[in-house]
Amino acid sequence: MSSNTKYIFVTGGVTSSLGKGIIAASLAKLLQSQGYKVTIQKLDPYINVDPGTLNPYEHGECYVTEDGAETDLDLGHYERFLNVPTSQANNVTTGRIYQSVIQKEREGKFLGKTVQVVPHITDEIKRRVQILGKSGDYDIVITEIGGTVGDIESLPYIEAVRQLRWDLGENNGVVIHLTLIPYLSAAGELKTKPTQHSVKTLMESGVQADILVCRTEHTLPKDLRRKLALFCNVTPDSVIQSIDASTIYDVPNLMLKEGLDKVVLKKLDLECTKPNISNWNKFVRRHKNPKSEVTIGLIGKYVELQDSYKSILESFIHAGAENGVKVIVESVHSEYLNEENVKLMLSHLDAVLVAPGFGERGIEGKITAVKYVRENKIPFLGICLGMQMAVIEFARNVLKLEGANSTEMDEDTANPVIGLMEEQKTIKNKGGTMRLGAWECKLLQGSKVSKIYKEDIIKERHRHRYEFNGEYKDQIEQGGMFATGLNPKTKLVEIIEIPDHPWFVGVQYHPEYKSTVENPHPLFVAFVKAALKYKTSK
Ligand code: GLN
Repeated sequence: MSSNTKYIFVTGGVTSSLGKGIIAASLAKLLQSQGYKVTIQKLDPYINVDPGTLNPYEHGECYVTEDGAETDLDLGHYERFLNVPTSQANNVTTGRIYQSVIQKEREGKFLGKTVQVVPHITDEIKRRVQILGKSGDYDIVITEIGGTVGDIESLPYIEAVRQLRWDLGENNGVVIHLTLIPYLSAAGELKTKPTQHSVKTLMESGVQADILVCRTEHTLPKDLRRKLALFCNVTPDSVIQSIDASTIYDVPNLMLKEGLDKVVLKKLDLECTKPNISNWNKFVRRHKNPKSEVTIGLIGKYVELQDSYKSILESFIHAGAENGVKVIVESVHSEYLNEENVKLMLSHLDAVLVAPGFGERGIEGKITAVKYVRENKIPFLGICLGMQMAVIEFARNVLKLEGANSTEMDEDTANPVIGLMEEQKTIKNKGGTMRLGAWECKLLQGSKVSKIYKEDIIKERHRHRYEFNGEYKDQIEQGGMFATGLNPKTKLVEIIEIPDHPWFVGVQYHPEYKSTVENPHPLFVAFVKAALKYKTSK
């Protein structure tokens, strides 16, 4: 193999939701802190070409990269931990693999051969795994394989890992198997059998796990570790305990204590030094020792599920630590919010964020929330759909533009203050056809956002189809809501503010995708600060 990149594969056993993404990100952090250039990739075994078309109920938030890929939310963890952007190449699904193989077949590129799972699908998987390695940008690529070992749809991936280990040669690839050690309270015992079975299932496909990371609620005693090592064919120092943590941000330190980085680097024949994670630890200390707290309302329609607004919640954690406060996020279901109960639901909050979203459900509740916080001078941040709702509310209630709406909700509205751009009008396909990825935005001097960002031109990530309708700009500005950020090329309105309000900002983009531990997003930092100020002034 030409490049010197080393590969780490992370598989999962026993059950899903063990936190492979966090383990991968934590290991990557430890390796990065020793000077290695590391990236993480996620392979998802479902048939969707990307998660863009997946319902957040089913798959959590869709995370958008700089280059406009709609990806799995684990990529958000990778960026938040490593502070390095990911790209299209960092998330691959079975749908995408098949799509490219079928396209090649149609182009006649297989020269009359029968196209099969092995070798054609597995070759495409191997090619995708090595794209990042061959870029020359990384010393180590960590590839997380979604799903659980034994699933039908994981098989081609496991087979690709088996082949890759031979292709890469000794000391160039390791397999980490993340597994569960359940505790049976009736027996008062930790049980190793499910792990033994899942390691065996992996072996049936020809892959021997090198390292076991064991999720557990209780400390693993020495003899249990020895037993696991013996039955699962690994060295005793390769049995790593991953005990439940109070925050995901503790996991890098827990893995350091267990020596995960040490054993991985030994197996890859790379030097291991003491990782420098002092900045990380500073953040963790601040996060765990807040001096005060604020309560911020998150108005959305997927509030029952933590994962649907993952990046927003994490951004609040970063911004909270930066301000030395704990941000308590109170979810408010927009569908149940109306003029009668809005005071009861929102008056105790220190700030309100109206969430992104698609479709009609719950939007009137969002508009009611905006009206309440605008009139009562409660700090407000609107993201994407949240910004659009702020514009609609202003048009309806301040400018008295009857029935003002977005054409997403009402195609025939007399006042389409939010509408489609010309290029979007002819689009029929759903997947990947929105305004996606990073776009430049020029900030108006003297505006709140220009003071917050301390920059002229910013670059933020988008994921939407509808836009502020420029035909209403003058009228809206005369009423007191200003466009304070514009796309320098297209002049599309990306930010709105109401200067006659202590803190009222709506952004067409998603700042939450860019907040990391090392770089908390300035807009979230300022918003939390405004919440704290509002709370003390009450
Ligand atoms: N549904 C809106 C649009 O497509 C907003 C999308 C979003 O909030 N991400 O423009």
